[in-house]
Amino acid sequence: MDVRRRPSKALRPAPKEPSSAPEPTGAKASDALPLPLYFTNALFFTLFFSVAYYLLLRWRDKIRNSVPLHVVTFSELAAILSLIASFIYLLGFFGIDFVQSFIARASNEAWDLVDEEEGEDHRHRLMAFSPSIADHIIPAVSSAEDEEIVDLVVKGTIPSYALEEQLGDCKRAVRIRREALQRITRRSLQGLPLDGFDYGSILKQCCEMPVGYVQIPVGIAGPLLLDSFEYIVPMATTEGCIVASTNRGFKGIYASGGATSTILRDGMTRAPVVRFPSASRACHLKFFLDNPSNFQTLADEFNKSSNFARLQGVQCSIAGKNLYMRFSCTTGDAMGMNMVSKGVENVLAYLRNQYPDMDIISISGNFCSDKKPAAINWIEGRGKSAVCEAVIKEEVLKKVFRTSAATLVELNMLKNLAGSAVAGALGGFNAHASNIVSAIFIATGQDPAQNVESSHCITMMEAVNDGKDLHISVTMPSIEVGTIGGGTQLASQSACLDLLGVKGASKELPGANSRLLAKIVAGSVLAGELSLMAAIASGQLVQSHMKYNRSTKDVSKVGS
Ligand code: ADP
Repeated sequence: MDVRRRPSKALRPAPKEPSSAPEPTGAKASDALPLPLYFTNALFFTLFFSVAYYLLLRWRDKIRNSVPLHVVTFSELAAILSLIASFIYLLGFFGIDFVQSFIARASNEAWDLVDEEEGEDHRHRLMAFSPSIADHIIPAVSSAEDEEIVDLVVKGTIPSYALEEQLGDCKRAVRIRREALQRITRRSLQGLPLDGFDYGSILKQCCEMPVGYVQIPVGIAGPLLLDSFEYIVPMATTEGCIVASTNRGFKGIYASGGATSTILRDGMTRAPVVRFPSASRACHLKFFLDNPSNFQTLADEFNKSSNFARLQGVQCSIAGKNLYMRFSCTTGDAMGMNMVSKGVENVLAYLRNQYPDMDIISISGNFCSDKKPAAINWIEGRGKSAVCEAVIKEEVLKKVFRTSAATLVELNMLKNLAGSAVAGALGGFNAHASNIVSAIFIATGQDPAQNVESSHCITMMEAVNDGKDLHISVTMPSIEVGTIGGGTQLASQSACLDLLGVKGASKELPGANSRLLAKIVAGSVLAGELSLMAAIASGQLVQSHMKYNRSTKDVSKVGS
């Protein structure tokens, strides 16, 4: 059997096991019978058919002899009772089996639908539908033995995703799901830890159907001297060199007097798409939205679902009969996707009354644009737009980085600017901003998928002070970070935010913590750019990677 499965199918009911497969060990209804199952089945089968045959013969004789059918002898009465008893047994035994296999098939077909559609909406619909099946099947599952529940999950009788709700114990649900998964796939999850994690903290918040957690080491780099404050930056990565290199960059920035940063803009966006019967009607709404005198009405609608979401503006784009409206708002210390989406829903409800011919196609029409490379974020910004700069002194360039301003300026021009232009880059005018962004994102509980636009960065270098020193800057228009909500509240991520002094909501000024986090991300990218570019300029790149990124272990012997 091919055990490689698509993840979404991994917890389906197991296919019929081959004869060599281990028997599930959970208790079954048949365990209650005093005789072996095959014996009782054979007994009742024989009884059913022999008494049915006997009664048919008696019926035929009575018709031939004109004896009334309701006049029965003692032996006929016994035969009728035996027929009823064996019928009840067979119905009970095979009937229940049929119903169970019918439900399992229905659940399987539902999963097939998910696979085909690959749509979040469908998945949500199924999640809402299927637990009610489980409710009917196992009314008191929490009191059953683990082994019995594992067996039911393997058979598909209990949907794996309903375990937390059914058991009321998150850790137990994870343990049972792991065991069922191992039996279905016949793969061991030994290396994936189970203990040491609070599964209750991720329920309905961060991850569905957990079976454990992946360990990612967190290194620290710093201090980063930024706007006269020092920060120790946690970085979660499995790529050797990244922390060490950023740390070297911090050292050079520190020795040169520190870096300075500015937040240019702060606004999360969501852009629904609506359709009209004609392009002119779509334009009518665009002009309505563009008109400054309508802004307050829109803002009143938008702002009513949150104390922190405050509408900043709406940018419209037309494609024929379709209108894309990019709403932008402040979101306090939250990254803000939930907030902005709720605000947009309010406005859409209002607009639907004003424009009854408006058809709402999607709350997100990709003009937002979330987690996809898009010029709109690069040009207009999304989340926090930040710029960070430093002047690195000649002696620091020489001592710490073993290079010079002139060498770095030329390399930056040829690699980060011209080279990226040749490659047709979109927001990728840098050496490795995404390495630093991803590592800080993972450590601090940000959404790693937003690394796509959060890593947009243009690195500029210029020789200053008679060409001796280096002015370096990074401009990052779409850093999407929050210090409250999502993964930021989990224990380890929260500890990393605390290390930076930006944990949770800012008490003094809503949004101050998340903006500071964006500045720290930009400052760290500045250090990463400086250090990597210097390593390339001085020919150290391969050497340092060989030192930090290649262990002496024979990796070919690890794993199969
Ligand atoms: P997101 O919009 O990033 O998905 P969530 O909606 O999950 O974030 O979390 C934000 C929640 O935190 C909201 O319910 C909001 O009211 C609350 N909150 C409390 N203080 C703040 C703050 N300073 N900034 C933003 N949100 C805050």
